[in-house]
This record gives sequence, C-alpha cells and structure tokens, in this order.
Amino acid sequence: MTLTVAIIGRPNVGKSTMFNRLVGKKLALVDDRPGVTRDRREGDARLAELSFKIIDTAGLEEADDASLLGRMRAQTEAAIDEADLLFFVVDARVGILPADRPFAELVRRSGKPVILIANKAEGGKGMEGAYEAYSLGLGDPIALSAEHGEGLGDLYDALVPYK
Ligand code: GDP
Ligand code: MG
Repeated sequence: MTLTVAIIGRPNVGKSTMFNRLVGKKLALVDDRPGVTRDRREGDARLAELSFKIIDTAGLEEADDASLLGRMRAQTEAAIDEADLLFFVVDARVGILPADRPFAELVRRSGKPVILIANKAEGGKGMEGAYEAYSLGLGDPIALSAEHGEGLGDLYDALVPYK
C-alpha cells in the first residue's frame, strides 16, 4: 500500500514549494501573494528510494472573504483524513504565529503521525524559529529548505519508519 502524506500549514510557509521539491515538477503554484487561487494537488513524491503519494493543501481564494477560514479548514481536514502521515510546515524565519495554531490543532486532534518541518532554514537561518516550533507540541522540528533542497536527508530519516 502506498503511503499518503498531506502537507499542512498556514499560507506562505512553503507547502507548495515542498510539494514541488518532492514531486520533482512544478505542479503546484508557488506564490507569495495572499489571495491567489491555489488548488489542492496530489502527486507522486520521491525522496531517494522512498516513494509516496503527497497532497498539497491551499484553499486561499479571496483573502478578505469571511468564509475563507472555514474553507481552508475544510480542505485541510479532508487532506488530513486521507493521509497516513502529516507534514506540518512552519516558517523557521518568522517563527510561530497565531495563524499556525488552528492548523496545528487540527493536526493534533487527528491523532495521525506528524513530522514537524521548519522550512526556509537554508544556510542555518531561522534556528530561533525552529526552536519556537517545539512549543506546538508536535515533536522535534526538522529544519530544512524546500526551496534550496537543504536538510532533505533529515526528512528522509524521519520518513523511513513509516515506509
Ligand atoms: P504555501 O502558501 O505554504 O504553499 O507557500 P509557497 O510554497 O507558495 O511559498 C511561499 C513563499 O515562500 C514563496 O515566495 C516561496 O518562494 C518561499 N519559500 C518557500 N520555501 C522556501 C525556502 O526554503 N526558503 C526561502 N527563503 N523561501 C521559501
Ligand atoms: Mg501553496
């Protein structure tokens, strides 16, 4: 059976960049502007010899839409339901924001195994943010850079037990 992983986190932490990195193609739209339409995507991911199915989550359509949070939440919940394992992504440079917490809460409540990822940590940047991530209570963060492809060996080590 194929392992299914869902990438969860607030907008702009680098979920789609992570998805593209692992799928090896630019299937997901990466954008730093809030309010851009970004669909949920699935792809076949590869990390060294590990292969798994991966789900990117998004759901931002109109940033000022009152139902935005509800829609993002529904999409995240559906992806969590479908997954065997969750990647919870935070921005190591920015640290933990209030906006991270509702997503972390959904992850925690699901009871599914989670790998905590502190992204944007290229060149050893953002270590404070990575330490802050411990406060989410989702385990030890893996500091990496989806954009620069750094730290993927640590992600590999964390994934091996689930394969
Ligand atoms: P998403 O909203 O969580 O899917 O985030 P995106 O993948 O769209 O990325 C949001 C922004 O963060 C974009 O400008 C990316 O280029 C940037 N980003 C993603 N990963 C990294 C990274 O590893 N390092 C840095 N410095 N920026 C990144
Ligand atoms: Mg995205």
